[in-house]
Amino acid sequence: MSGINVLKILNTEYLTHNVKRFVVEKPKDWSYTPGQATHLAVNLPGWEDQWRPFTFTSLNDWEYIEFIIKIYDAHDGVTKQLGKLNAGATILMKDVFGTITYRGPGIFLAGGAGITPFIAIFRALFFSGNMRNVGLIYSNHYHEDVILHQELSQMLGNAYANVFTKEGVVGFAEKRIDRKFLIETIRDFDSRFYVCGPTDFVTDITGYLTELGAKTSSIIV
Ligand SMILES: Cc1cc2nc3c(=O)[nH]c(=O)nc-3n(C[C@H](O)[C@H](O)[C@H](O)COP(=O)(O)OP(=O)(O)OC[C@H]3O[C@@H](n4cnc5c(N)ncnc54)[C@H](O)[C@@H]3O)c2cc1C
Repeated sequence: MSGINVLKILNTEYLTHNVKRFVVEKPKDWSYTPGQATHLAVNLPGWEDQWRPFTFTSLNDWEYIEFIIKIYDAHDGVTKQLGKLNAGATILMKDVFGTITYRGPGIFLAGGAGITPFIAIFRALFFSGNMRNVGLIYSNHYHEDVILHQELSQMLGNAYANVFTKEGVVGFAEKRIDRKFLIETIRDFDSRFYVCGPTDFVTDITGYLTELGAKTSSIIV
């Protein structure tokens, strides 16, 4: 599956103040697995060769493709342009490539928009009745940054914890996923771990996990 596809945007909506959901048509014979991503470009003069990676949050057997994209409005990049596109406009899509693959039950740690590959994985597990021994720790700056809170709660039940790093009471330290938090929250470091988010998030968390006894081969980033 290569070549450039021109895809019509069927629907858009803001899920949070800066995260936008795009529903786009699915090309014939296109297939992907949960956790995989593609490159998108804006179909406007000057932007057609500005490719950026985004994860499929839909499942392959759905009739359409869904992307959930954080829009960086302060910066004149591709996502700012995507922020202006709505139903009826087109975007360009090429290739499918792997990022995070589900390798079995484990604890998922996501920072911000790093939740997107996990959304596809959780949906696949949930719809096939295989959501067992899967937990999520989802870190965001504030409550209002959380993407698809209701759906995640429905899929994961009480195996879902939120952390808000900038929501501390004035005068108190920000809450972060640090060593102490992991010791208190995760009892079994023999588990499998999936980590996705900004580079610093991934580096810090994988560092703590290995210090606490997780095997490098059990940490999927
Ligand atoms: C495999 C993969 C899958 C991804 N999937 C998703 C997804 O599903 N959803 C999603 O939202 N994101 C996803 N991302 C991240 C996404 O690709 C980037 O957010 C996007 O490429 C940013 O494009 P841009 O042109 O708007 O910014 P760019 O111009 O490419 O900016 C590059 C970097 O500059 C930073 N930047 C932002 N503002 C400024 C500024 N004012 N000045 C200087 N630098 C700034 C950005 O943080 C970014 O890291 C994924 C990334 C990868 C690698």
